[in-house]
Amino acid sequence: MSLPALTPANRPSSALPVAAWEAAHGHLVAFLGDLIRIPSINPPDPPGPELDAARYIAAELRSFGLEPEVVEPVPGRGSVFARLHGDGSGGDPFLLLSHLDVVPADRDDGWTHGPFEGDVADGYVWGRGAVDMKGMVALEVGVMRLLAARARAAGLDPAHDPIPGLRRDVLFACTADEENGGWQGAGWVVDNRPELLRAAGGVNEAGGVSAEIGGRRFYPIQVAEKGHEVFRIRVRGAWGHGSMPRDDNALVLAAEAVRRLATPGEPRITPVMRRLLDEVAAALRPDQAALLGAVAGDDPRRSEAALRALCDPVYARTLRALVRDTISPDVFHAGTKYNVIPGEATIEIDIRTLPGTTPDDIREELLVRLGDLAPACELERVHSAIPVEAPADGELYDLLRAAIRAADPDGVPVPVMAPFATDAKHLVRLGVPLYGFSPLRLEPDERFVERFHGVDERVGVDALRWGLPVLYDVTSTFCG
Ligand SMILES: [Zn+2]
Repeated sequence: MSLPALTPANRPSSALPVAAWEAAHGHLVAFLGDLIRIPSINPPDPPGPELDAARYIAAELRSFGLEPEVVEPVPGRGSVFARLHGDGSGGDPFLLLSHLDVVPADRDDGWTHGPFEGDVADGYVWGRGAVDMKGMVALEVGVMRLLAARARAAGLDPAHDPIPGLRRDVLFACTADEENGGWQGAGWVVDNRPELLRAAGGVNEAGGVSAEIGGRRFYPIQVAEKGHEVFRIRVRGAWGHGSMPRDDNALVLAAEAVRRLATPGEPRITPVMRRLLDEVAAALRPDQAALLGAVAGDDPRRSEAALRALCDPVYARTLRALVRDTISPDVFHAGTKYNVIPGEATIEIDIRTLPGTTPDDIREELLVRLGDLAPACELERVHSAIPVEAPADGELYDLLRAAIRAADPDGVPVPVMAPFATDAKHLVRLGVPLYGFSPLRLEPDERFVERFHGVDERVGVDALRWGLPVLYDVTSTFCG
C-alpha cells in the first residue's frame, strides 16, 4: 500500500498550494540524495567529510537567500547554522536542530543500494543517514526554504528582513560529531557559541514517527532521553597452566559476571512512560489495553507474552528497555594464549538509566549484581550523562500533538522516552527544551527502529512528503 500524495483534502492546515508542496518535496528528495552521497562518517578518517556536508548544507541555504555560518572547532569537522528573523515580538527563537554525521557503513554488509549513493528507488531514499538523520536535515532545510520564499514573495531579503508572519526567529543548527558524543559539535557550540542554539524550545531527531501498536497508528513524541553510564570492569583471577583448570580463571569469573550483569532488572515505570502506557491503552480495545497493563506488571513471563501479542518484536524490545535501567555488556577481553589461564579480564558495559536513577544508584546496582564476585572486580566509570526531560505539556508539546492530529486524524500522538541519548544532553545546559520530532508517516509494516545504524537504512519518499507540511506548520505556528 502506498500513501496518497498530498491533495487539498488531506494536506494539513497550512495555506500553501499543492503545487508549492510538490515543488518543495522534489527539492527535498534531491537534496537528501546529495547529502547522503557525502560520507560524513564519524569517527572521521581523516576529518573532512563532515565539513564537506556542512558546506553543502550551507550552499543550499545560501541558494535561497540565507547567510549561514559554518563553525569548525577542529579542522575538518564542521557544523552549520542559520537564522531567519521574526519581528521580535514573540519571544525567544525556535530551534530546528539536527546532526550531519553518520555511523560507518560497508557496502559488503549486504546493502541493496550502496550506502553512500543516495539512490531513490522503490519509493525510498536509500543510504546511510537517510533515517539518522539526514532525512530530518532535509525536512528542516525544506522548512527554511519555504519560510525564506515567504520573504522573497513579499520583496524582502530573507537573510535580514523579518519573515512575514513570524514573531520569533527560527534557528537552524546542523552539527558534527553527534554520533561520538557531540563534543566537537553541539557540545563545543554550547560552551563557545551558545547564541547559535539558545531558544525557547526546539525539535530534534527520532520522535514523531508513526508506529503500529495493536492495529492503531501512534506517533511517539520524544520528551525524554535515558541517561548513559559506561563502566569498564577489570576482573582479577590467577594466572596458571591451561592443563590444570582453576576456578579463579579470570575469564570464567568474567563470564559469570557478564551473565549476572546482563540479566534484565525489575521494571520501573517513570511518569512519562506511565503517560505513554495510559494514552496508548486509552486508544486500544479493552482486551489490548489489559495486555498493555501486563507489560508493566511484575510477572516477567506475562509481560513478555503481552509484548509479543501487542507489537512487533522490534518495538517490544524498545518498550522493554524503556521500563528499566538496562545493562548491555558490549566488550570483553581476556586471554593471551590457549594454554595460559588468564589472570585478568576486562568487560565494558553500556548502561542506560531511567530518570530517577543516579550514578551512585548504578554503581550500587552493579555491586549487588556482581555479588560474591565483587571483591574480584574493579569498577571504572568511563562516561556519565544524566537523563534529559522536556515538559510533556505546555505550548510547544501541545502544538506538536495538534500538528500530528491535523495531518493524520487517525493517528494518536503520545509522549515517549528515547532509550538512547542525542545532542539534547548538551542543549539541556542552555535550558533549551528539545522534542524528538522528525515527523514521518510510515507504512504499517515498516520496522523503522531497526533502520537506525542498520543495513539498508532508508526513508520513504511518501513519508517525507507527509512530514514536510507537519514540520512547516509547527514552525510557523510556534513562531507566528
Ligand atoms: Zn542521530
